[in-house]
Amino acid sequence: MVIGKNRETKLVVNLQAITDNIQHERAILTDDVEMFAVVKANGYGHGILEIAQTALAAGATGLCVAILDEALSLRKAGITAPILVLGITSPAFATLAADAGISLTVGSVDWLQDYADQTTAKQPLSVHLAIDTGMGRIGFRHSEDVKQAETLLASDLFSFDGVFTHFATADQTDTKYFEQQFKTWQQLTGALVQLPKYVHISNSATSLWHLPVTGNMIRFGVTMYGLNPSGVAIEELPYQLEPAAELETQLVFVKQIPAGASVSYGATYTAKTDEWIGTVPIGYADGYPRCMQGFHVLIDGQQCEIVGRVCMDQMMIRLPKQYQTGTKVTLIGHQGNQTIGATDVAEYAGTINYEIMTSVAERVQRVYR
Ligand SMILES: *Cc1c(COP(=O)(O)O)cnc(C)c1O
Repeated sequence: MVIGKNRETKLVVNLQAITDNIQHERAILTDDVEMFAVVKANGYGHGILEIAQTALAAGATGLCVAILDEALSLRKAGITAPILVLGITSPAFATLAADAGISLTVGSVDWLQDYADQTTAKQPLSVHLAIDTGMGRIGFRHSEDVKQAETLLASDLFSFDGVFTHFATADQTDTKYFEQQFKTWQQLTGALVQLPKYVHISNSATSLWHLPVTGNMIRFGVTMYGLNPSGVAIEELPYQLEPAAELETQLVFVKQIPAGASVSYGATYTAKTDEWIGTVPIGYADGYPRCMQGFHVLIDGQQCEIVGRVCMDQMMIRLPKQYQTGTKVTLIGHQGNQTIGATDVAEYAGTINYEIMTSVAERVQRVYR
């Protein structure tokens, strides 16, 4: 992996914004509710270790990741807080988790038996049972299986530490499906003789818009980064979100082209008059979507159109006048009173802010302030 340290394209991450978002969320939670910061996918592109450390210092008491290797990298960096892997880890790798004190998500009785048959772990494996109440992704769907899992978890091989579910529509205005899932959750967890330490059902959206039903821990993801989990669907928020990341670069080449001259692959853009065109060193290989032709960036406090196709490593911008190379260009962030949010980029690209942020390539250097 090569990081572009000697160029001006960077993702600038404001760690204070992470702290502020966590503290604002903490303020709406009751004291008995813990927060696990979700730092999967390189901290939603922001940098896994920096975000994990900031979140723990700001009041999170644990971390969630998607895959075991993310958890191991946090342990290797010295993080001792509880870490939960949200995805399914193969039983063949689970001994590593047990010995590193990492909690795994388990979604079937077979998994527990398979692990018990092969593990050589020196410590009990910490398990959170996933309950599939309607997400249809992973987890137990029948109370008999939940009961059987609880019996198996009584073995010395395991420490039964959590039970959770995940909502499919917590970010939508229609709450019918959410309520149906919640009812199923109550039925399926009713099969347990004793609830484990952590009972958790909230992602960001659930914690923002369905707070009263939260268990005793929330899995706080996209909103910690200052983004609205619903995109633009629900604008009312219990507190103001502070986006933590700005994606910026500089003009590296500026020229004037005559009317009739074309720009970029496919010659899909042709100048109508004599125009100033700036080139910036960022493209789809940096994670900026190829479909962004016609959208805009900010230069000198103004919106400037992306003209011609976005290339792999570069793209072109129409400038209102001649600007010097080295002029700052903001792709996500603000200049003066103009703002481009990750959600704006996502709306234009036909996706969600999560995908925009997690797509920022490893080669884009992260800078923290
Ligand atoms: C990714 C994930 C989260 C975090 O979701 P946000 O919408 O970013 O808050 C929570 N729970 C599970 C199971 C996840 O996979």
